[in-house]
Amino acid sequence: MGGSSGSSPCASCKLLRRRCSKDCIFAPYFPPNDPHKFAIVHKVFGASNLSKMLQELPVNQRGDAVSSLVYEANARVRDPVYGCVGTISYLQNQVSELQLQLAAAQAEVLSMQMRQQKPHLVEQDMETSFHMAGDNFNSISHYIAVASNLSASVIQDPLKIESFST
Ligand SMILES: [Zn+2]
Repeated sequence: MGGSSGSSPCASCKLLRRRCSKDCIFAPYFPPNDPHKFAIVHKVFGASNLSKMLQELPVNQRGDAVSSLVYEANARVRDPVYGCVGTISYLQNQVSELQLQLAAAQAEVLSMQMRQQKPHLVEQDMETSFHMAGDNFNSISHYIAVASNLSASVIQDPLKIESFST
């Protein structure tokens, strides 16, 4: 890629006005058709820090590192005070709210079951209720997993942060 063959330099080398060598560390992650991607990490982290960070990583992890750095840089520019911590806090609050709602719904289900049950079936129904509570506990875990996936997918796609900015 790049070099003396006349093909265009990577976005990093273009912005830094330097020659894009054959083994340019940025070239695989910053193609010339997406100049903003490098510009923003350069603005927040600096090209030389970025280069050092990538050099310290095995090649197979550099792509992911670039994705997260781009995400963090976008978040920092968008929210100079909290950066991506703002998004993390927002999602953590959502998880807490969902947990509260689930606990309230669980309590509601249990109390409805208590009201419906006939006096001579009390003990048996109590047992059923505990099983129900166990199921609900599993669905809380499920919602937490869903919320975690949500936050993971946000990290993979910087554009998705848009939906959390309001
Ligand atoms: Zn380059």
